[in-house]
Amino acid sequence: MNILQNMRFSFAFIQALLCTLVMSATAWPAGGQARTGETVIQKATEQFESSPLQTSYLDKGIWMFSGDGGNVTTIADQGSTLVIDSGVASRISELSDAIFKATSRPVTRLINTHWHFDHTGGNVYFGSLSVNIISQENVKNRLESAQDVPFIGLRDGYYPPQALPTVTYSSSMTLNQGGQHVTLANYGPAHTDGDTIIFISPANVAVVGDIFSNPFYPIIDLASAGSIDGMIHSLDQILAQTDAQTKIVPGHGPIATRSDLWDYRDMLVQVRQRIKALVEAGKTIDEAVAAAPTKEFDAKWGRGYVSPDVFVRIVFTSLTHSGNANR
Ligand SMILES: [Zn+2]
Repeated sequence: MNILQNMRFSFAFIQALLCTLVMSATAWPAGGQARTGETVIQKATEQFESSPLQTSYLDKGIWMFSGDGGNVTTIADQGSTLVIDSGVASRISELSDAIFKATSRPVTRLINTHWHFDHTGGNVYFGSLSVNIISQENVKNRLESAQDVPFIGLRDGYYPPQALPTVTYSSSMTLNQGGQHVTLANYGPAHTDGDTIIFISPANVAVVGDIFSNPFYPIIDLASAGSIDGMIHSLDQILAQTDAQTKIVPGHGPIATRSDLWDYRDMLVQVRQRIKALVEAGKTIDEAVAAAPTKEFDAKWGRGYVSPDVFVRIVFTSLTHSGNANR
């Protein structure tokens, strides 16, 4: 089998596996009971459609908006607002109103932390207003082509031209907004192959996108080249760039501290080690799930979109089919 055929095989395998993951997903936060057959994304979407939009003040000129999909962060200066992520499409009017109410400045720039629908749903709206959209280069590639990711599922890509990034970068980029120095960094594939982590200084805020959902097991988008190794690698870079006072804005959930990020990183490393041992012992993916390698972590991390079983399947697949498993 040549390399191309191998790649096709891996992609098809991952797609098929993720279909299985979707059907077996059962957990939901906030005390919600599992509904058989609901996908991870269906459950997430229900929450995004119905949660109240909340505005949190972080620092001078900086706010966070949460509830309508991924967390949205804004930085205002004298005459404009820079927005990080754009929520889900259905709630863009509400989000836009809340941003203007908080900042009293028009939005002129939008950064996407990655391509998923709950972080780019407002791109059409902002792009239609000639807002400059900035992202890692792979985000543009994914938004302008068909994306068939079973466990993300709700978007097929083909975003209209006005929703596509107008400025892209490869590994890092800097810009200024008011008195803040804004650094965009990509440390290789982690949650997806187009993740951007944003460091805001001197406010000392780090916006990390879905590399961290607080406090849940993460979705790792294997079909978009994400991997467990990449997640840990990116986390190590973030930990190296932050300190005890840094406010960490996760992709979902409340603002966190660096110590929360350490706990999360430790959990990922231990889960990876345990599943790696099961792989090396020749266990099948079902046997790995049955071994409950995440058991001691489930009370803290297992009540989000991704149930413990689904998380084990994602990590197992990442370790056995990822091209960068040894990074
Ligand atoms: Zn995501």
